[in-house]
Amino acid sequence: MQKLKCTENGCVHNYCKHCVKDVVQISRDACCDSFDLKGPKNENNAKSEFEFACECGLGTREDNHHILCNEENCNYWNFGECSSHQVKIQGRMNEAKCATYTPKK
Ligand code: SF4
Ligand code: SF4
Repeated sequence: MQKLKCTENGCVHNYCKHCVKDVVQISRDACCDSFDLKGPKNENNAKSEFEFACECGLGTREDNHHILCNEENCNYWNFGECSSHQVKIQGRMNEAKCATYTPKK
């Protein structure tokens, strides 16, 4: 499990930099494949899910997630899983990119 912080506020799974998905998939170019656009009908979903996680003591409350990743060129890539203890995802023009990505030497 990794600690995850995400600044992509436009994602339906984001509430105040918390991601409410237990499993997050990162793509071959270090973007978040689990990103879903927030809209008027679902903008409060993440808030409700986060509050539920806090009440029930689920891992999301502590920002613990299972991060799967296909970016093989990253130093933290470990056969489909991320091995970094902490991961930061940053919102950029219509995508959420892993800011913890570190190229292999
Ligand atoms: S962009 Fe990815 S990491 Fe960020 S809240 Fe959405 S699903 Fe979670
Ligand atoms: S730090 Fe590297 S291995 Fe971990 S999610 Fe980001 S790109 Fe993937």
